[in-house]
Amino acid sequence: MSSVMAELMKQKIAEALRAVAWQGADIVTNGMVAGVTVGEGGKATVVLQIVPDKNADMDALRTQVEKAAGAVEGVASVAVVLTAHQPSAARAGYGSASQGPPQQRQAHGPQKIVLPGVKFVVAVASGKGGVGKSTTAVNLAVALAQMGLKIGLLDADIYGPSIPRMLGISGKPEAREDKKLIPHERYGMAVMSMGFLVPEDTPMVWRGPMVHSAITQLFRDVDWGVRDILVVDLPPGTGDAQLTMAQSAPLSGAVIVSTPQDIALIDARKGIAMFEKTGVPVLGVVENMSMFVCPHCGTQSDIFGHGGARTEAEKLGAPFLGEVPLDIAIRIKSDEGVPMVLAEPGGAVSGHYKEIAEKLWQALNV
Ligand code: ADP
Repeated sequence: MSSVMAELMKQKIAEALRAVAWQGADIVTNGMVAGVTVGEGGKATVVLQIVPDKNADMDALRTQVEKAAGAVEGVASVAVVLTAHQPSAARAGYGSASQGPPQQRQAHGPQKIVLPGVKFVVAVASGKGGVGKSTTAVNLAVALAQMGLKIGLLDADIYGPSIPRMLGISGKPEAREDKKLIPHERYGMAVMSMGFLVPEDTPMVWRGPMVHSAITQLFRDVDWGVRDILVVDLPPGTGDAQLTMAQSAPLSGAVIVSTPQDIALIDARKGIAMFEKTGVPVLGVVENMSMFVCPHCGTQSDIFGHGGARTEAEKLGAPFLGEVPLDIAIRIKSDEGVPMVLAEPGGAVSGHYKEIAEKLWQALNV
């Protein structure tokens, strides 16, 4: 079993454990599930932190946990380990990692992952969803590959992976003998996404430590080989997953994508602040859906305003990498699985992406 599959089973077990009630709440919500592991042949171990109480029926609890976890597909056996309760601040159990301030989580924070063959790891981030972060990540990655660079593209948007569709790829990746997953090859890039590992319509509910291990595995348990840049499409926002990424992935820097209107810029600002706090350099800001050029009459309309991201970047002292217009062809080609820089390599839109790619490469090499 690949470690990513094991991770998915762990997630399902943790979900199933929500059905086990203990002293007024389910055992996940009340933070008792300290760990879940799945080994070879579907052997699961559930670690529970309990407050010793001689009146409590621990055997009944153990039986319920065995039953709930044992009902998960692929689980062959369940071992339940009971440990004594620790002070909650030091605990990082399932369901509890989103509690407590970030500094605390950082103190117990994840180890940095090392990718020996990869020169630069660049996160493409946005303060909120729907601003075109994934579209930018894909086109930027292809534009960098067109410059002759060896590129990997990691879709780390574990909540809504869209890169498989944007590149027209599907199917489970193969695993090597040492269980490392072999990324798909597309348009000269190595591509990996959680979307290859789970069916498209499966809602992905990730909690606390599971986010960390899922993300870690997409980096570490994939054979990324030798790459100039690994472009990482982050989930939107500035929550736990992004923080985990900023803390544990070997990020060389981050690119922030925003639309020009104020409301998106507020979130973009939060994104910039998060990377700065975690010591990840902001390599630049991209303004997406910057202006709309009517395909019929050629008139330019600034639907979401224009230039807001550039001004904001200047205010915050972050480099401005460029702007991409709102162009229906970007959406159409993307839905067809062909990024715009490949569909219309000589077009104006591709020119924008190429300029951003060149600026990014320069920023990495100073
Ligand atoms: P995010 O990753 O920020 O959630 P996506 O990259 O998935 O956003 O883009 C959301 C939608 O907007 C997609 O349908 C995409 O094709 C479309 N889109 C993104 N950028 C542009 C653009 N510049 N012009 C037209 N459509 C765009």
